[in-house]
Amino acid sequence: MSIATLESYIRCVPDFPKQGILFRDITPLLNQQLPATIDALANLLTDEEWSTIDAIVGIESRGFIFASALAYAKNKGFLVVRKPNKLPPPVHQVSYDLEYGQDRLEISSQFQPQRVLIVDDVLATGGTLNAACQLCSLAGHDIQQTMTLINLADLNQFLWQGRKPRTLFSYGA
Ligand code: 5GP
Repeated sequence: MSIATLESYIRCVPDFPKQGILFRDITPLLNQQLPATIDALANLLTDEEWSTIDAIVGIESRGFIFASALAYAKNKGFLVVRKPNKLPPPVHQVSYDLEYGQDRLEISSQFQPQRVLIVDDVLATGGTLNAACQLCSLAGHDIQQTMTLINLADLNQFLWQGRKPRTLFSYGA
């Protein structure tokens, strides 16, 4: 299935969750085309690149959907980056800036260092993905790649240099 056909299952919702925001609703894509979407995400990396990855890190909560399905499809381990106070100790924590205020993410520090791919649904400013990268580094993991389903390129604020996220659908810029 073409990327354009898959993209047609993403619904644009104006003024959600706040006035002025154009929200990309991925639930029709999940309902109708989850297997084809996971195949398309898997194809963003070559077999050689996949061979360098031990585990896939999912960012709570929509990142879990894609990261866990990819882990199954590619026979990799799964690790979680979670919102505060969900994981039992020991954890690493990172605080990061939101448009208004701050948020925090956590990762377990109980695991041996692994070579990881970090996955989320949407890349907007990049603050969430950047915080997940910091957490993986704190936990000793070696970040091989990062990936999101959607890139809202007009909102990107981070320069990723060698670690530019792989994305399936890009809007703007
Ligand atoms: P960032 O930290 O890059 O600014 O924002 C990324 C986070 O916000 C992602 O974890 C994602 O779940 C959420 N997000 C931002 N914009 C959208 C959107 O238009 N649709 C969806 N589904 N999630 C969004």
